[in-house]
This record gives sequence, C-alpha cells and structure tokens, in this order.
Amino acid sequence: MNRILIIEDEEQIARVLQLELGFEGYDAKMVHTGTAGLLAFHDEQWDLVLLDLMLPEMHGLEVLKRIRKHDEAVPVILLTAKNEIQDKVAGLDLGANDYMTKPFEFEELLARIRAALRIRQRANPSIVTNEYRFLDVAVNEDTREVMRGKTTIDLTPREFELLLHFMKHPKLVQSREQLLDAVWGFDYYGDTNVVDVYIRYLRQKLNDKQSPILHTVRGVGYVLKEPANEA
Ligand code: CA
Repeated sequence: MNRILIIEDEEQIARVLQLELGFEGYDAKMVHTGTAGLLAFHDEQWDLVLLDLMLPEMHGLEVLKRIRKHDEAVPVILLTAKNEIQDKVAGLDLGANDYMTKPFEFEELLARIRAALRIRQRANPSIVTNEYRFLDVAVNEDTREVMRGKTTIDLTPREFELLLHFMKHPKLVQSREQLLDAVWGFDYYGDTNVVDVYIRYLRQKLNDKQSPILHTVRGVGYVLKEPANEA
C-alpha cells in the first residue's frame, strides 16, 4: 500500500484528500503546518508527498528544500493557489515533480499521483518484477504497470487489486462475495454492488468490448477467460 503524506493547512481540503485517498487504497496522513510536515516526513516512510505552499510556521518551498536535501527520489506534488505562479516555478526548480492548482478535480490529482508513483518505481532498478500474463494482458505486481497489447492501462489501486486477483486466478469463477473478501477485505461492510461497479470500470479501461476476457457468469459472479466463441 502506497503511503502519502498530506501537508496542507486548510483542514477541510486536507480531510477530504485523506478520506478520498483512503477510498482509493492509499494510506494517507495529514498534517497542517510546515514544521509538522517536515517532522512527519522524517519520522516515517513515504511514497509520495502532497505539499501546500502557503503554510504556517514554515513555507512550503522551505519544506521542499529540506525534503530534497535528504531524499531526491520521493515524488512531491505541490498544491498551489492560482496567484502563486512564481512559487510554482521555484518549486519545480527545487525538485517538485508536479503541481496542482486549487481548486482541482480529484480525478486529475489521482492520475498525477499514479503517474508520479510509476515514474519512481521505474527509476528503481532493484525492484524484482513479478508479472502475470493472460492473453494480451500483462500486470506487474511490483511496478503496478498494466498493459493490454501495447497500451498502458491506468488503474486506481482498487481496480488494480481486482484485476491482479483475476490474473492470479485465471479461469476460476469468482462470486461477488469472494471478490469482496479478496480485494476489499473481510471487514468491508459495503454491499456486493461495489464489485459490479468496479468490474464495469475495469472493462471500460481494458477496452473489453473488443475481445472480452472479463466474463459475467450469470447468477454466480465473474471469471477471467478467453473471449467466448460465437456459438
Ligand atoms: Ca495553505
């Protein structure tokens, strides 16, 4: 599970971010001042930092400078206001990977987080690859890259876990309850409709209409298998 540190003094924004990132399968923690952010950064291991610029106690640029002194690799995405153009430029010069201008669409932030994490994982050659293939689909558990044919597929963490589960158990019919347990965890009290919703997302992203591999087994659940022959 990727860990994200949110350094943002607007508590409302920080709380929504933490909640939404949690829903997407990230382990997110928030702090509200520059100094608290720096302390949290050094106290724990982080895969990515979301950094507001206008922060009490220590400006975001100073926080960034100090983070980069110790860690050149951790992806940092700046959360900036419209009128902070100079600070954006300075932040990128100081080694920020990306920035989002507030107010932003959460979906776009998610895409940028995924992109930043992918680049970081690619840059780390020590990762041993753990790849699953089925027909033209390839899923790499370590780099979390998904390909269909030559197309890279961008999945949220939850979508990824669901596809990975199918890739590890090809041709095995799975009930919604089994998928819930495997992907959402035993303590997930939602109803099983969430499985149908995520299957729909996966099918869309995998462009599964063309040659479907995620099949519905009526009254039972779902299965990953070859496209059915026209019978
Ligand atoms: Ca602020």
